[in-house]
Amino acid sequence: MAHEYTIDKARLVLKQGDITREDTDAIVNAANASLMGGGGVDGAIHRAGGPAILEACKAIVARRGRLPTGQAVITPGGELPARHVIHTVGPVWRDGGGGEPAQLADAYRNSLRLAREHGLASVAFPSISTGAYGYPIGLAADVALRTVAAELRAHGSPAEVRFVLFSEADLQTYEKTARAMAREAGADSAPDRG
Ligand code: ADP
Repeated sequence: MAHEYTIDKARLVLKQGDITREDTDAIVNAANASLMGGGGVDGAIHRAGGPAILEACKAIVARRGRLPTGQAVITPGGELPARHVIHTVGPVWRDGGGGEPAQLADAYRNSLRLAREHGLASVAFPSISTGAYGYPIGLAADVALRTVAAELRAHGSPAEVRFVLFSEADLQTYEKTARAMAREAGADSAPDRG
């Protein structure tokens, strides 16, 4: 079941699924610095999208080198339903004291900036860094949702952002965080009833 929130005029959707099937204007790949594909969601996107995505990634790396953590680039979507793939590199979790939260926020922020620059109306994110990169899911959900909500409030676009969580447990974690954020926002704007 999908859960929906409205942030100003934008829609924030949380759902369980396989991101390679999403028909948003772009899906975001939790890539690594080499942009050469790998396991997890990265491997799934390259398998489903075909060789055009890897060709575009190779051209980017030839031009600008490896992609630093927190940065994002855009390629065509190949055979995916999504027209574009935004590749971003999340941080590897160590102990949280090495700037991981700021780097994770950068990955979401820079992905959304690229989406705006390309006039994309809808973007789907996986849970960046919470697989092989080991970021604890509850902490990652907090950074992901707060960063995306702040961007939507600041810019009003893209019109729809979806989080596509691979497991039911991950969806529940994101949903719990989103409900807590919605309560805080409600408390901020609620009239004082004494
Ligand atoms: P990272 O290296 O950034 O941790 P991973 O791909 O290992 O990236 O994991 C990121 C998240 O993507 C994990 O929560 C994993 O369960 C999820 N994931 C893996 N395959 C898919 C898929 N096809 N669609 C959506 N999410 C996926």
